[in-house]
Amino acid sequence: MTLSYRISTLQYQADDQFERLLELLAAHRPVVDEVALFTSFTHHMYIPLEVFAKRCELMGRRLEQLRGAGFASVGINMLCTIGHLDEAWDIWPPLPFDCMVGHDGAKSRSCACPTSTEFVQYTRAAYRLVAQAGPDFVWVDDDLRMHGHTIQWGCFCERCVKRFAAKHRGAPATRKELVRRLDSPSGGALREAWVQNNNVVIANLLADIRKTTRRVGPKIETGLMTYGPSWGGYSGIEFDHWLKSLGARKARPGGGFYGDHAPGEMIYKAFDTARQIDLYRGQADDVQYELENFIYHKLDKAVQTVMNECWLALAAGCNGIAFNALNDMVRSMDDYRDLMAGIERERPLWDRYIAAAAGLPMVGLWPAWDRRTTAKRSVNGDWFAPGGEYDFNRAIGLAGLGLPLTTTPQGGCATILTGKLAEIFSDRQLKEMLAGGAMIDGPTLAILHARDLGHLAGVKLGTTYDNGVWETLAPHPINGPFAGDCRDVRTSFGGELSYELVPMGRVASAEGGPSAVQALARLTGYDGRDMGLGACAFENELGGRVITLGYGPWGRCANSAKRSQLMAMADWVSRGRSPLRIDKTLRVLPMVRMSPDRKRLAAVLLNARLDPTGPFDVRLRAAANKVSLITADGLKPLAVRKEADERIVTIKNIPPWQTAVLVGS
Ligand SMILES: [Zn+2]
Repeated sequence: MTLSYRISTLQYQADDQFERLLELLAAHRPVVDEVALFTSFTHHMYIPLEVFAKRCELMGRRLEQLRGAGFASVGINMLCTIGHLDEAWDIWPPLPFDCMVGHDGAKSRSCACPTSTEFVQYTRAAYRLVAQAGPDFVWVDDDLRMHGHTIQWGCFCERCVKRFAAKHRGAPATRKELVRRLDSPSGGALREAWVQNNNVVIANLLADIRKTTRRVGPKIETGLMTYGPSWGGYSGIEFDHWLKSLGARKARPGGGFYGDHAPGEMIYKAFDTARQIDLYRGQADDVQYELENFIYHKLDKAVQTVMNECWLALAAGCNGIAFNALNDMVRSMDDYRDLMAGIERERPLWDRYIAAAAGLPMVGLWPAWDRRTTAKRSVNGDWFAPGGEYDFNRAIGLAGLGLPLTTTPQGGCATILTGKLAEIFSDRQLKEMLAGGAMIDGPTLAILHARDLGHLAGVKLGTTYDNGVWETLAPHPINGPFAGDCRDVRTSFGGELSYELVPMGRVASAEGGPSAVQALARLTGYDGRDMGLGACAFENELGGRVITLGYGPWGRCANSAKRSQLMAMADWVSRGRSPLRIDKTLRVLPMVRMSPDRKRLAAVLLNARLDPTGPFDVRLRAAANKVSLITADGLKPLAVRKEADERIVTIKNIPPWQTAVLVGS
């Protein structure tokens, strides 16, 4: 495990401040494996080379001082290559070469077009200076992307558009016409080519950085920071290819989670982290989670929040943490002492977890996603204003209610298809999903019918409601004692549309049976009228089990009845292979890893609520003989009750916003 620290210019430029930093790091040496110096502290990409040369000389001296103080692995984090976003443009010199241009013609003030000769020359010179400072490693930050640079979608400068037109026959040579074609329903092939072009521009830039750096220092390691696929695939995000281009075995999955105001957001970052690691496809072995406390104000994020976040990062597959946390402008280091002490307390537990989880795939239901979604989705004047129908994260909130989820189809015991993501998959892929187990929503059902696969769900869409409807759980074993209970997502307060489901064949009697639609919920009008079927289960001709959810499927599911129904649904569609089940009405997030023979497991459980859990049972669908809690005193074996395919353990309590970590073998 690697614990590393990213250090702002503000902490190393002045001698006295650097002394304070050294003192802090030295006081916590067992948890400081790596130190990386940031090249700048703002996101404006251009620094005149004569200024940058002086900074690199200083970084070289600081790296030597760090080595002298006993820190074995020290390097440099290039904060800006293309530039992140517009910042401080009135203060720093303007870019002396072409800036990035948006699809609407807007010009970035701080971010460069990556294809000008002048930019490439500047970048080579800058990385040469960085390499000459003698770092053990150089990190490239996540500004290597073609979107989200204040201008939203780049680069549509004249040169980039002309180069694309020269490479792709039939591509228009003007920005306005290119944008019109990219945004039109028939622009599919052009969109795929444009996204692939973005992918290649980034890969080429990374290859150039590798060559430049290694020419100066053949042994300098390189590392690439990436960002969450849920931010979109406009830049191609072929991370394995990018890592190879950079010659990197170090990778840093990133994303935004900055403070305590919405702690549940860390769950979304954790799943986006797991997706990034999936896209590395084994090209990185040192995977350091980006723990980011930007803008670094101490009271924005509690030490406990950081600990929880680190646990989720490890559960997502990281084997290191890069702390971007020690960078506030307060000169005293006292603000960080509790954080460093927390890291020191937790490290032995993290080490134990990583050893236990090594090589185990993440398991659970798979909310389907695909890297190529931006390139392949249908478009009708909305490519540059993407909506939530393609959001990979729609079902992730269910994880916070206790549903075990995974980010890989290989680890999936069933598939969750949300919004319009079904569009991205081929008929063969969709059939495979529906021949296994799947939970789908109304928009997915519409796509399945358009592809002649709707019969595999057993229902078609009826009336759509945008107001005045709740759902009533039907009598069915999946609903158990909650039959008759209701849930209202309050559609008029930002809730989702409701879809009436119309059975295509016969409706099951209370006993159910194959090839009949089994009612799981009815739509009920606010006046008490029955408005039709709202959710159903169906066993199709391929042997697959499909649950269609017409009413508020992925959000506002936080009552006991709905939570219980969701857990039972997961068991039904996966034929009991959902890896873990907690029956008590809690908000406990499980992130589970398990070997294919189910004998080894590692599970992080986060109590994502401000109340203690009290005692609760965890039903593990595992074949492990021993199950232990990871504690500060080592592994603490738990009493295991065996019931058929389950191993049941009781957790005494998880305090508010804390974790319990289980390992089994
Ligand atoms: Zn350009």
